[in-house]
Amino acid sequence: MLSVEQAMERILGYVNVMESEERSIMESLGQVIAEDVYSGVDVPPQDNAVMDGYAVYSKDTRSASGESPRVLDVIGMVAAGARAYCRLMPGTAVRIMTGAPIPEGADSVVRFEDTDEACRGEGDKKIGILKEVEPGKFIRRAGEDIKKGSKALVKGKVVRPSEVGVLASMGYDRVKGIRRPRVTILATGDELVEVGNPLPPGKIYNSNSYGIAASVLSYGGIPEVLGIARDNEASMLERLRQRMDTDIMVTSAGVSAGDYDIVKDILAKKGDIVFSKVRMKPGKPLAFGTIESIDRNGVARKVPHIGLPGNPVSCMVTAELFLRPAILKMLGRKNLARPTVEAVMEDTKDNYGGTRVFNRAIVTKRDGRYYARLTGPQATGILTSMSKANGLAVIPEDKVKVNKGDVLRVMMLDWDDELLQGD
Ligand code: AMP
Ligand code: MG
Repeated sequence: MLSVEQAMERILGYVNVMESEERSIMESLGQVIAEDVYSGVDVPPQDNAVMDGYAVYSKDTRSASGESPRVLDVIGMVAAGARAYCRLMPGTAVRIMTGAPIPEGADSVVRFEDTDEACRGEGDKKIGILKEVEPGKFIRRAGEDIKKGSKALVKGKVVRPSEVGVLASMGYDRVKGIRRPRVTILATGDELVEVGNPLPPGKIYNSNSYGIAASVLSYGGIPEVLGIARDNEASMLERLRQRMDTDIMVTSAGVSAGDYDIVKDILAKKGDIVFSKVRMKPGKPLAFGTIESIDRNGVARKVPHIGLPGNPVSCMVTAELFLRPAILKMLGRKNLARPTVEAVMEDTKDNYGGTRVFNRAIVTKRDGRYYARLTGPQATGILTSMSKANGLAVIPEDKVKVNKGDVLRVMMLDWDDELLQGD
């Protein structure tokens, strides 16, 4: 049976980085930049004032002080967005607002606080400078942030809000990024009922499709929920014959050893099985391979297929462990792993099977150390255990028992402060 690492390596071997596409800068949030971005303009475009005050020639402020102000003639005023038409001559000043362009002849700005403006009457054409300023004071230089023609953002960088801002500062409304993969999600099971409907006896709601779809969204992919296939070949094949543009197919359930577990049979007929078990808990019955998918032009092609287990917790944990890195690779991301911490265990747990066990854990931080306690019962049907957890505490294959005080590595799913601080 494959180890978690071997399974991951196989899956990553079958998924490729998506092509690039041009999108609006807002829509590209979270995507990877596909080409270096050069600036067509200086940012800021011109020298401008950092403070509200007076644009002056610094030499005119020499030895100015509160006791002996240097009095200058005010020859005009310039606001942000306006053009500075006036030209400073020695002994003159221009009233200027933050962000306004520096008039010709001025080499510094004296802020209002360092002038006697407050004491002067309306219409006074003079200003007293109370403090000497050095050249360049309170001026942002043209191109100080980004020089025209320079490389502002490098290929491979993830677009965060800051990158959206930087792109906008250069005037770009679109950017080339690696496109998001489309992830088709198909639930299988005769017992499943779609949410929003009454629940007949013997049935359960289809929660996996939604847990997976939400995970896909949070990883940066585009989920496409295909509905429910029943536990027979005809129903599954009918779903697979639907035309869709999918980059990766994800099914849930039907991969264990039961009488109606037909996903593996379909995989064998309509695709290739690469593996069907992983040495881990939860999530041992995890299938991976390729499956035939018909695109919108009616062309059949093989796409990677992850057959997630049906038990809701197993489904979410394996999506986290295998689907997430696959999607991140497709998105062109470099770091595919969740951050981990070493945490002191506050509960005991046995590991009988020599498998790697992923326990839903609540991680808190106290006195600079991380502590992890279990969310409660760890059965694979208890989906609320995932909801309570902010991490997965990992018991290695060779550790048969975890005692209180043992240190385990915890994969952090969430850095929510409230959870980390405990309750
Ligand atoms: P299976 O892999 O088909 O044997 O399913 C294992 C368990 O997961 C069974 O108890 C199923 O009822 C449950 N299950 C399967 N699919 C879903 C789903 N989409 N939502 C919630 N539970 C499911
Ligand atoms: Mg089933």
